[in-house]
Amino acid sequence: MIALNIPYLPDFSRYQRYLQSMYQSKWLTNNGPMVRELTERLEEHLGVNNLLLVANGTTALQLCYKALSIEQQAITTPFTFIATANSLDWQGISPVFSDINRESFNLCPTQAVKALNASTNAVVPVHVYGNPCDVAAFEQLGKERDVKVIYDAAQAFGVKVGEQSVLSYGNASVLSFHATKLFHTTEGGAAIFNSNDDYERASAMINFGIDQQTGEIISAGTNAKMSEAHAAMGLAVLDDIAFISECRLNHYALYKHLLGHQVSYPMWHPNSAQNGAYMPIVLASAAQCSAVYNALAKNNIESRRYFSPALNDIAHLSGNNSACDISTDIAGRVLCLPLYVALRPAQIHKICQVVLRALN
Ligand SMILES: *Cc1c(COP(=O)(O)O)cnc(C)c1O
Repeated sequence: MIALNIPYLPDFSRYQRYLQSMYQSKWLTNNGPMVRELTERLEEHLGVNNLLLVANGTTALQLCYKALSIEQQAITTPFTFIATANSLDWQGISPVFSDINRESFNLCPTQAVKALNASTNAVVPVHVYGNPCDVAAFEQLGKERDVKVIYDAAQAFGVKVGEQSVLSYGNASVLSFHATKLFHTTEGGAAIFNSNDDYERASAMINFGIDQQTGEIISAGTNAKMSEAHAAMGLAVLDDIAFISECRLNHYALYKHLLGHQVSYPMWHPNSAQNGAYMPIVLASAAQCSAVYNALAKNNIESRRYFSPALNDIAHLSGNNSACDISTDIAGRVLCLPLYVALRPAQIHKICQVVLRALN
């Protein structure tokens, strides 16, 4: 069997050394030494400030909406993981779906502008598969139309636009450190804020609304803290991040070499490099997509229809939404192939052989 995903496990004795220091300090949570060390190292590695570690990516999204006072409607993409829209819905904010760009599969800024109305508080674009969306256009939209821009960057670890981290755009960006992501802490996530004030407000909110410095209760709050044990995994994985990226990018390159123009791919941002987070392929038709999926399954190879269905086609979210034809079309023809460090080149050869045979 070839699994769709196998989480990266750092050397056990190195992980153990981090856990040992947690045992020695007897400090298990509440902004402990390892959460602080991971915060510093991630800010340095990613080239950002105001990074706040939290329990998971979904919580990080909810925290951003709360810290930035998003309350009514937010425009977002239907072509993403369900957490983007469900996190809005959970906070009592209506997700309004706007269609994607046919080439990049990211939220289309021109369509998003058309969907704006008096109740729109925010735009929540997603860097789908780690591919930066049109950040320049969304910056302009945010300023001109006075709406907040919050990026779901859950899949965009380590991605830059030009020389600058993709996380430095908008009012805030969110990362997921779930076990299956490129960088992980078992479960975990981060919110990155552009303004110090938003960061300070959010820091209190993740700890019941208690101000870090004064100990006073200054706002509404929840418990969204990352624990020391989770940060320990993060530190051990971050030690290997260069190796992880190299492996994934090599696998990605081998897939593209073997599949060539027989399938298509999302068009990447011209000013940004791949991060090797996912291996999406797009087939010519829904029927061809099913044929490839079934052929892989028959050969004990897992693949996933990521992201299908398009979220505007999901019952509890489709209330005030119109059709998003491009999203529905792409969601019907896209497939993600296995991509992770433990995958072997021979397995990629096998997977591509099955894909190509199913096409011909
Ligand atoms: C993984 C993911 C999330 C959710 O992150 P969790 O850490 O699992 O809560 C949200 N949005 C996108 C686009 C994701 O890929």
